[in-house]
Amino acid sequence: MKLRLFLPLVGMVAMTASCNNIGGQSANNMDTLAASNPFYSDSKLPFQTADFDHLKSTDFKPAFEAAIKTQQAEVVKIADNTEKPTFENTLVALEKSGLLLRRVNCVFNLLVQANFDTILQKLNEEIAPKLTANTDAIYLNTKLFKRVETIYNERAQLKLDSESVRLTEYYYLKFKIAGAGLSDADKVTLKAINGEEASLSAKYTNQLNAANKAGALVITDSTELDGLSPGELAAAATAAKTAGMNGKWKISLQNTTQQPALKSLKNRATRQKLFEASWNRAEKNDSNDTRATIARIAEIRSQKAKLLGLPNFAAWQLQDQMAKTPEAVDQFLSKLIPAATAKAKGEAAEIQALIDQQKGGFQLQPWDWDFYSEQVRKAKFNIDENEEKPYFEVFNVLQNGIFYAANQLYGITFKERKDIPVYQKDVRVFEVFDKDGTSMALFYCDYFQRDNKNGGAWMDNLVVQSKLLGTKPVIYNVCNFTKPAEGEPALISYGDVTTMFHEFGHGLHGIFASQQYPSISGANTARDFVEFPSQFNEHWAMDPQVFKHYATHYKTGAPMPQALVDKIKKAATFNEGYSLTEILGAADLDMQWHKIAPGSPKQDIDKFEAQALKDTHLDLPQVPTRYRSSYFLHIWSNGYAAGYYAYLWTEMLDDDAFDWFKTHGGLTRENGDRFRDIVLSRGNSRDLSQMFRDFTGHEPKIEPMLENRGLK
Ligand SMILES: [Zn+2]
Repeated sequence: MKLRLFLPLVGMVAMTASCNNIGGQSANNMDTLAASNPFYSDSKLPFQTADFDHLKSTDFKPAFEAAIKTQQAEVVKIADNTEKPTFENTLVALEKSGLLLRRVNCVFNLLVQANFDTILQKLNEEIAPKLTANTDAIYLNTKLFKRVETIYNERAQLKLDSESVRLTEYYYLKFKIAGAGLSDADKVTLKAINGEEASLSAKYTNQLNAANKAGALVITDSTELDGLSPGELAAAATAAKTAGMNGKWKISLQNTTQQPALKSLKNRATRQKLFEASWNRAEKNDSNDTRATIARIAEIRSQKAKLLGLPNFAAWQLQDQMAKTPEAVDQFLSKLIPAATAKAKGEAAEIQALIDQQKGGFQLQPWDWDFYSEQVRKAKFNIDENEEKPYFEVFNVLQNGIFYAANQLYGITFKERKDIPVYQKDVRVFEVFDKDGTSMALFYCDYFQRDNKNGGAWMDNLVVQSKLLGTKPVIYNVCNFTKPAEGEPALISYGDVTTMFHEFGHGLHGIFASQQYPSISGANTARDFVEFPSQFNEHWAMDPQVFKHYATHYKTGAPMPQALVDKIKKAATFNEGYSLTEILGAADLDMQWHKIAPGSPKQDIDKFEAQALKDTHLDLPQVPTRYRSSYFLHIWSNGYAAGYYAYLWTEMLDDDAFDWFKTHGGLTRENGDRFRDIVLSRGNSRDLSQMFRDFTGHEPKIEPMLENRGLK
C-alpha cells in the first residue's frame, strides 16, 4: 500500500530541469568574475559542497552573468572547431562546459525555493529568460547540431562504450526535439511559434489566476457555512475582510475541481454553489475566460509538431520519454479505465445508500461526493491522525525507518556531519557510506515549514555525480512539516512518513548514481521514469520489519498497537475508484488535446472535452475530471503537456517492481543490491524500458498497481 503524491510542480521541475540539465565551463574563462566571489573556484569543502557560511545572496547575480558568458564562449568554440567532429571534441567537451553555471545554478535552485529572500526572488525572475536563451543558443546552433549528428550517424563504428553511445543518442534527440535540424526558414517559424506559445501560456496563467481570485465563493449568511470548523470560518471571514467585504465569508478556490470545504459543508445548496464556482471559474465569457487562449495553444502546438515532422504534439513531446509514443500512453490508460470506473461506480452506490439511509431524498451529485465519502470513511475506519502521530517522530522515522530500510537493502550507513555548513539551522547533514565503508555522498534534510520556503516536498542535487568531472553526489530533501515548539518532538502523520520515504527514494537515485557524464547521471532522467525510484521507496514505509523498527511511541518506545496499524493499512485504498477516475480523466484530456492533427480547425473547448471523456468512457456524471481543460494549468503552462499520465505510469512501474521484491523474499540485501545494480545506479545511462525489463524480467504489468489501489 502507499500514498500517491501529487507533488507540486516545483519538485519535478527542480529535479528535471534545474541544476541537472544545464550544459556545462572550464576554469580558464572566468576573468569576468571577481576572485572574491565564492563561486570563482570549486568549493574546498568535502564533496565540493556549497559553503553556506561564506555565501551572500548578492553573490549570485555576478556569478550567473559570468557563468552564462563563459558557457556561451565555450559552446561557440566547440561548434566552430575546424577539426573533424569526434566524441571527445564535441560531446565530452559539451559535458565539460558550463561548470560554473552548474555550480551557481545548483546552489541557487536550492536557496530560491527552500530559503529565499527578496534578492533571490528578484534574481529568479530576471535570470529565467536568460537561462532559456542560453539553452536555445546551444540547442538551436546549426553548426553544433551538424557535429552532433555526424557523431550520432557514425556511433556504431566509433567503438564507444554503452554509456557514451547513450550520451550520443541523448544529445542527438535533445537537439532534434529542440528543432536544430530545421532549415533556417523553418527555424524562424519555429521561434515565432515558441514565442507565441510562451506568451499564450503566460496569458493563460494570468487569466486563470484572475479567474481563481474572482471565482471565490462569497457568503453573506454564516448559517450557510454550517459544518466548517471555527478556524475555517475565521479564515473565511478574514479573507472576506481583506477583500473589502467586511462581515461576509469568502471561500477561495483551489486549483482542482473538488474543493477542500466540500468535505465538511452541511448545506447542500452551498456545496453546489461552491462546486459550480470551481467548475465554471474560467468559462464566464469575460476577460478571465481561458477557452480562446487554450484553443489557440492547442492549435499552434499541432502546427509545431508538423513543422518538426511529427503527426501531433504528443508524439513530439514523448520522443525522449519511457513511453515513447502516444499509443503506448493510451494503451496504458485504457488498462486502468475499466477497473477504476467500475470501482467508482461501486463507491457511488455506497454513498447513495448512505444518502438514502439518511432520507436525503436526492441523487448523488459531484458536490456531494466528498461530504458523504468522508462520512463513509469515518464510519469504516474511524481514523484520527492524533492517534497515530505519537508513533512518528520525524528524526526517529528518518534514522530508524528510512536509513534502516536503506541499510537492510543496500548495506549503506549514515553519520551526521555537524561540521558541514548549512543554510538554515534546522537543516541536518549526513555523510553516506557504501557497504564497504567508502564515503559516497552527502545527504541534507530540511524538514520544517518556514515562511521563506515553497510548499510541497522535493529532492535535488547540490552537486551532481560525474566520474568525468570527479564529483560525488550531494543530495537534499526538502519537506514542509510543522515545526514543533522548542524542546517538543516533531510528530508527523503517516502521510508525511510516506512523503519522507518518497523523497529519500529520489535521494537514493542520486546517491547511487555512478555515471561518467553529468547530463545522464542519477535522477536526471525522463519525466515518466523519475518518480519510479521515489514511489518505489514508499513501499518500505509499510514493510512489517521496517515499520516495527520505526513506529514506536516517542515517549514510551512502545510499538504501535496492531489495531491501529491495520486501520492505517485499510484506509489507504479507500475512495480509490474516485481518485483514480478523476486523474484518468485529466490524463486522458491532456492526451487528446495533444493528439489533435495539424490543420484541424480550432476546437470548441466544452464540446471537445465532453466528447473526449465520452470516447474513453470516463464521462461518469458523479466523478468529474480532476481538472477541467479551462483550468488545467499543468498542461497549458507548466510543462506537463502530454505528460500528466507520468504520475500514473511511474506508479505502474514501482508497484510492479515492488511485486518482484515480494515474490523474491522482500527486504533482503540480495534483492536490494540487484535493484541498485540494475536501476538505482544507472541514471539515464541506458534505455529506460530495457532497464525495467532487466529488473523485472518482463514489460511493465498493470496488475500490481490495480491490486495496490484496491481495484482487483
Ligand atoms: Zn517525487
